[in-house]
Parts: sequence; structure tokens; C-alpha cells
Amino acid sequence: MKELIVSDIQHFSTGDGPGIRSTVFLKGCNLHCPWCHNPETATTRTQTLVFRGGVTKTYGAVMTAEEIARDVCGDIEFYRESGGGVTVSGGEPMLQAEGVAGLAKLLGEKGVDTLIDTAGCVPYEYFETVRPFVAEYYFDVKTADAEKFTDLTGGDLETVTDNLRRLVLSGAGVKARIPFIPGVNTDDEDCERIAELIVRCGCRRASLLPFHRLGAAKYEALGIEYKFKNTPPPDKALLEHAAEIYGKYVDIDIE
Ligand code: SF4
Repeated sequence: MKELIVSDIQHFSTGDGPGIRSTVFLKGCNLHCPWCHNPETATTRTQTLVFRGGVTKTYGAVMTAEEIARDVCGDIEFYRESGGGVTVSGGEPMLQAEGVAGLAKLLGEKGVDTLIDTAGCVPYEYFETVRPFVAEYYFDVKTADAEKFTDLTGGDLETVTDNLRRLVLSGAGVKARIPFIPGVNTDDEDCERIAELIVRCGCRRASLLPFHRLGAAKYEALGIEYKFKNTPPPDKALLEHAAEIYGKYVDIDIE
């Protein structure tokens, strides 16, 4: 079974899907969103970050699916009682589709559901690899403007929307996740266009993921510029206004 390059495993997370979950963050991403709060996942290389105050943390370990399953299944009773499970995030987890499929299969055999949190800018075949073992997806939709998407992330929006459409058509449970980033996609027009795009892809569930700066310390430790360091998180009124717009098109919640 293919090994996985794991950045970190977070236990008892409640923000990455229903119930109590473990989130397995994989290393490596093919986009470069400047607001990313997991900059340590940009590369598959192992990195030891030294934070202010001297605390160190190493991100990056090659693990087998069995090793990961053993780690996360320690919390299996919590998943059962809360309707939770395991979320595979990143980075871009779909870049390790074979390993993710192996992990999800193993977890499924133990009665644990896997949810994938993806930005979706990969060949659709990667989704076909995981699809037999993964029913639920959180699928990022960052903008409806193809040029802006490429400028900001280096990715191709058509690939993303095509994958979203095909994944929904496959019968998977898909929630579009909109990172709500001031200065990027919070205008009324942005909201309308993104909502229309989501509906055009056949998706009816979405959530707004408000921008935050919790990744700032990692940028500092990595010695790379954090272009959003002075961007404030969106306020409640702006989020609620955006949710009202989205609500005309899709079932929307604010995370
Ligand atoms: S796709 Fe996600 S992990 Fe990759 S750079 Fe963008 S925000 Fe970060």
C-alpha cells in the first residue's frame, strides 16, 4: 500500500466536518494561495519550524496507511458517539490519491468514515481513485473569476469546476467551501458569481470559511512573507450579509 507524506495529525478537531474528528494534514500542494494558513504544507519536504520563544515542531513524516489508521482509531469511540470520523486535508490531499484511497479503505473496514478536504485542482482520475472509499468531500471554491484564480493560486479554474461538477454527478456528498477572504472574494458581486458557479456545478450545500491569521507564526518561522498579515478577519455583519446572498442559491452555513 502506498505511503503518505503526513504534515500533522490533529485529534479532536471539530471544524473539519461533522462530529468529533481527527484531521490528517498531508504535505504538498499544487496551488499557492497567498492567504493559506498552512504554509508548511506547500512542500512535501520535512520542515522543522522554530517558533518565537524557541518552541520547535517538525512537519513531515512518511507513514503507512496502517500507521495512520492505528493513530486515529484510538479515538474511534468519539467518532461513533458524535457522528464524526477522519478528515484528510492538506496541502492538497488529492495529490496523494492512491495513499488516501488505501487509508480510507482501511478506515472504512474499521467502520470509520473519511471526508476529503480538497481544492480540487487535479486530474479527475485522482477523484476516481478515492471515490470508491470516500463518500464526503469539502470542495474549495475560491473565486468564480478564472483570471483571478490563476493570478492568485497558479491553478486552472476550469479544472476545478469540471471536477466539482463530475464529483457531484458521481453521487458523492459535496459541500462547497468558500474561504471568505477580505479583498479577494467578499464583494456582493463575488458572492453572487461564486454562488452561481456552485449551483451550475450541481452543488447545493456550501459554507463560508472566514479568513483568519492563525498561520502567521508559521510564516514567520518559515522566514517567508505573509502577504495577508495586515488583513483583518471579516466581521460578523459582512459574513452574515454574504450568507444572505449565498442563501438565495444554496444551503449555506458559516464555519
Ligand atoms: S489550496 Fe489550500 S493548502 Fe494549498 S495553498 Fe491554497 S489554501 Fe493552502
